[in-house]
Amino acid sequence: MTRPAALEARSLCVEIDGARLLHDVDFAAHAGRVHALIGPNGAGKSTLLAALSGDLPAASGEVRLGDAPLAGRSPKALARERAVLTQDHRVSFPFPVREVVAMGRHPWARSPEAELDDAIVDDALAVTDVSHLAHRTVPSLSGGERARVALARVLAQRTPVLMLDEPTAALDLKHQEDVLRLARSHAQRGDTVLVVLHDLNLAAAYADDITLLRGGRVVATGAPAEVLTAERIEAVYGQAVEVLPHPSTGVPLVLPIR
Ligand code: ADP
Ligand code: MG
Repeated sequence: MTRPAALEARSLCVEIDGARLLHDVDFAAHAGRVHALIGPNGAGKSTLLAALSGDLPAASGEVRLGDAPLAGRSPKALARERAVLTQDHRVSFPFPVREVVAMGRHPWARSPEAELDDAIVDDALAVTDVSHLAHRTVPSLSGGERARVALARVLAQRTPVLMLDEPTAALDLKHQEDVLRLARSHAQRGDTVLVVLHDLNLAAAYADDITLLRGGRVVATGAPAEVLTAERIEAVYGQAVEVLPHPSTGVPLVLPIR
């Protein structure tokens, strides 16, 4: 790929309280593509997402956003470039859903884009299927509904880079597919979409690129069919699997051997 990466890590190391959580990570996500981050629990997926978003500093190496170093940008400038759905996105204040989603517009206050706030919030509520909950308070929602409201707030930020940490974790089958269809449609419009997923079949079906992490290191990165081999999945997850091509689409299907 000759296009510069929209989001990139170069020899990135991250440390917290003296513990090294990421080791020499090289990573690149490109505009117009959905990039899935996968790996077992504790592999460093959330840590990498936090470092790529600027929420965690690099101990060494570099993060680049839009082909320039990420470090040194103002919080407001960052918030106009990338939106982040964190894993612990629970908003527990008793605010109405619509107000919580409207908080996503905050980075655009006093800019020409602020004129579009109401329409953008309506759209974010609609595409995440929470319009009917707009006047409910967040603590009264189910876990899955709350997760969709959190996603709506992130989408309302209208940034060209979307970073979603396990956006499907609490969701039912249809809403999981909805979220990944949304991710794809954003990529089709030219956005850079980075998404942490546990479901390898969702990753295989919706991602253009997959990066597999283990122990804070990149094990493999590339197209789904290159990354998702039975041998590698068994080695990394410690679970025997069969990988078969989907009979009509050819997308890899990962089946645990039971
Ligand atoms: P993942 O999202 O892939 O499940 P994380 O990035 O959350 O993994 O965590 C990677 C590893 O770093 C885990 O072993 C986790 O326990 C550890 N870790 C995360 N935060 C801290 C912290 N503040 N201090 C020490 N270890 C941490
Ligand atoms: Mg995580």
